[in-house]
Amino acid sequence: MPNSPSADPNAGEGAAAPQAASDFVRDIVAEDNRTGKHGGRVVTRFPPEPNGYLHIGHAKSICLNFGIAADNKGGICHLRFDDTNPTREDVEYVDSIQEDVRWVGFDWGKNMFYASDYFGKLYDFAVQLIKLGKAYVCDLTPDEMIAYRGAPSVPGKESPYRNRSVEENLDLFARMRAGEFADGAKTLRAKIDMASPNIHMRDPALYRIRKVDHHRTGSQWCIYPMYDYAHCLSDSIEGITHSICTLEFEVHRPLYDWILDELKTPCHPQQIEFARLNLSYTVMSKRKLLQLVEESLVSGWDDPRMPTIAGLRRRGVTPEAIRHFCARIGVTKYNGMTDIALLEHSIREDLNRRALRVMAVLKPIKVVLTNYPEGKVEDLEAVNNPEDASAGTRKVPFSRVIYIERDDFMEVPPKKFFRLFPGNEVRLRYAYIIKCESVVKDANGQITELHCTVDPDSKSGGPTAGRKVKGTIHWVSAAHAVEAETRLYDRLFTVEEPDGGKEGRDFKSFLNPNSLETLAGCKLEPSLANAAPESRYQFERLGYFRADPKDSKPNKLVFNRIVSLRDSWAKEQSK
Ligand code: ATP
Ligand code: MG
Repeated sequence: MPNSPSADPNAGEGAAAPQAASDFVRDIVAEDNRTGKHGGRVVTRFPPEPNGYLHIGHAKSICLNFGIAADNKGGICHLRFDDTNPTREDVEYVDSIQEDVRWVGFDWGKNMFYASDYFGKLYDFAVQLIKLGKAYVCDLTPDEMIAYRGAPSVPGKESPYRNRSVEENLDLFARMRAGEFADGAKTLRAKIDMASPNIHMRDPALYRIRKVDHHRTGSQWCIYPMYDYAHCLSDSIEGITHSICTLEFEVHRPLYDWILDELKTPCHPQQIEFARLNLSYTVMSKRKLLQLVEESLVSGWDDPRMPTIAGLRRRGVTPEAIRHFCARIGVTKYNGMTDIALLEHSIREDLNRRALRVMAVLKPIKVVLTNYPEGKVEDLEAVNNPEDASAGTRKVPFSRVIYIERDDFMEVPPKKFFRLFPGNEVRLRYAYIIKCESVVKDANGQITELHCTVDPDSKSGGPTAGRKVKGTIHWVSAAHAVEAETRLYDRLFTVEEPDGGKEGRDFKSFLNPNSLETLAGCKLEPSLANAAPESRYQFERLGYFRADPKDSKPNKLVFNRIVSLRDSWAKEQSK
């Protein structure tokens, strides 16, 4: 079962947005400030590897790191590109990461760094470790290294190269750098303890040979530092006080501390681990997201179904909704699964406040109001946002021929169907009560239009305006409608944990075949003719929508459904 840490996803809309409450990381920072541990400084960092686009899990880390810096007077958060693995990295990602962090709502000011800027310093530190007798060049192949490493309960075996002299190590390491050896032929390893119960302390590799160009340093280097080695030193070089990372790095912390202790660096940041965000019905590994993109299973990193920041942005989610979601899930050390319904709830709550209500018919059927005069047009008043009186009202044209939703009519209705069927009455939102008199069919028996009559006294201000009927449906005047395509998105996967559980389970086999439904020929009220992507709308009774920023053009409108009005999955599951 997914656990939703705090709020009930079905709680009433418009509930107050949570503030970033305190959490155990903030408590540690506050305590360090009290004791003066870091001289009262607070310097955090957000260190993405530029090997993919950022996702909603990264947003949690962004809100935490930048949020803590903002909470503390003089606090700073660095944006650091952890670009130590040239084979997977690209400038496209460096650019998208900056755009996405800014869009989520944070600013690193002048503090943008690249781990690759420290390659020279990191090399010098490695030479220092060799001189201290704490690192050695090893000739074991990658497979041999794995075999020698042992298992958690089986001590490892020392490498036969472990006791090379300092001079020999210095010479070999310099030649590794000079490009004398092939990829994988040699590594530089820390000399720690092959019997350590912590596998990460069994002489971990610090440098490996990779004869590939780097997107920033070009062909300057053919040896590249390993993550664990580069990360702690980059933190230290930048004067980071609190190095906040996800729980899987807890077992790497002894190595983080060992490297800084052996090198006696003046700055020794404190590593603090928190639980990463896991979200149901999606995947968040960048490797898997990349597969979806490369295999064209989605339209790109910004496909509105993707859990990426770019995807959520394109879909129409606001940065406020993302920040509220991150505040709501909180920060703990408990590795759980957050129900995606909670994210959807945060999105609805935000849109409920800001979205203008409009009428749109997505799957239209024509209705002729036989007793309504031909050529007559009335401008009826409609409320823009019942949540926000300042949003005011607008006029919506009404005429003899309208469209209603195909699903709002049934020729043979089941019990409790309170919408339109032959002989029944419904109210048209902001307009008249109508009664279905007859159904018109083509030669194949397909319904082509409905003939209805209006109760002319039943509109607002009329003698029977208050007359109650059981159903109210939305509509659009046919003569005034603007056409649009709409894209209805659903969850990308059909199961809670597409990449969880059993070995060998292919997450792609759980892709939801109905995650995108494209509807052409939708009929929108005319106020939407010039809808800009910046505006978010509630299509009454249907969901929240916005014009797609890439594909929507004034003469070819395309709307994305950001989120439905209700959690239809919860209903499905309880059935
Ligand atoms: P992947 O495993 O998909 O490559 P990653 O964790 O390696 O992801 P990074 O670019 O290294 O991705 O992540 C940058 C920062 O964001 C790290 O500090 C990492 O801990 C944090 N982060 C990544 N994923 C999540 C998540 N799901 N929840 C919270 N923080 C995350
Ligand atoms: Mg990483």
